[in-house]
Amino acid sequence: MEHLLSHRARAARSSVIRDLLKVVEQPGMLSMAGGLPAAESFPVARMREAVDRVLGASDGLASPLQYGPTEGVMPLRAWVAEQMGGDTLAEQVVITTGSQQALDLLAHALCDPGDPIVVEEPAYVGALQAFDAAAAAVVAVPADAHGLCVDLLADRLAAGLRPRACYVAPNFQNPTGATLAVERRRALAGLADRYDFVVIEDDPYRELRFRGEHLPTIGSFGTNVVTLGSTSKVLAPGLRVGWMVAPAPLVPAMVRLKQSRDLHTSSLSQWLAHDVLSDAGFLAGHRRTLAALYAEREASLAGALTAEFGDRIAFDRPDGGMFLWAQLAGVDTTALLPKAAAAGVAFVPGGAFHIDGGGTDRARLSFATLRADQVDEAVRRLSTALAAMSV
Ligand code: PMP
Repeated sequence: MEHLLSHRARAARSSVIRDLLKVVEQPGMLSMAGGLPAAESFPVARMREAVDRVLGASDGLASPLQYGPTEGVMPLRAWVAEQMGGDTLAEQVVITTGSQQALDLLAHALCDPGDPIVVEEPAYVGALQAFDAAAAAVVAVPADAHGLCVDLLADRLAAGLRPRACYVAPNFQNPTGATLAVERRRALAGLADRYDFVVIEDDPYRELRFRGEHLPTIGSFGTNVVTLGSTSKVLAPGLRVGWMVAPAPLVPAMVRLKQSRDLHTSSLSQWLAHDVLSDAGFLAGHRRTLAALYAEREASLAGALTAEFGDRIAFDRPDGGMFLWAQLAGVDTTALLPKAAAAGVAFVPGGAFHIDGGGTDRARLSFATLRADQVDEAVRRLSTALAAMSV
């Protein structure tokens, strides 16, 4: 039947990571592969309370069980606007089905087929998929320990590159864990104003900071910025509630595109998210709990890796988020993965995050999912897999 598929459907690439998740669901696998938040951290009791309250309050008009506006329910949009601070209006907020949908909407709204879009490299695979699906021409610009190399982007722009947009994840980036330096944020917003493109500031990890101070958003330095957020890493990814905060002139196009995709994001999920997020006391405590949990897990993974591999492994310590970006010099991590899976441990090979064939000696290790008592065993299994590479 494949001949009935469109060219677009045939060309769409599957995410290596999502394919991998199927393999690593085997019993007994210690997986550092998925970007899954710690399931123990889900606020189950508070969500149950929210279900009771939200369904109890249903008046049939703004019902959580009814169709709702494409833009999202107003109280949640207002909550997002308030979090952004400054003079952000609720009307600039579009609630999306995860921030993944915001990437898809932006790719289609900003890029005609063949239009260039700049992407930090390495980059979040789901963003690459969204830009591919819109047939945009992805232009990779390297990122280092301080995020996108904005000076290299400036060189490309000065040499004539005219992108429609530039994609970056500024905090505890997926996969590198790096945070975009403040001066680079300011410079990037300035370049967007000067060369007339949109910065897509994809920020789902902001609340998972466990070291240092929060940095100002890129959006706070300029007008050509769309900032994305999500409940996925703070509450629960199964809600599928995210958002974009866009300059007002872009909002109607986003809403029209979203209408044809899903009419609107689940009303029930939005009201549940609003109930929990607007409970400021609960949210503050929950954020602290999450930060403490991930700080502890990051420290135990970093410690176990150093103890086992010594100077055969290199990585920067992230200030938050869920990922360690480890370098195993001289090791092809794509070839290592089947051996690791056989030993009962999984990670994502670095090549998955590159479009130019780079990152082959890197592995993205998530420290979010494994419990402290599983980390030593996971690292031992990784060591077994590495030993199997050299025979
Ligand atoms: N952006 C980044 C950088 C991510 O890591 C993820 C999830 N792994 C997403 C967006 C998508 O998140 P969601 O759709 O669940 O909000």
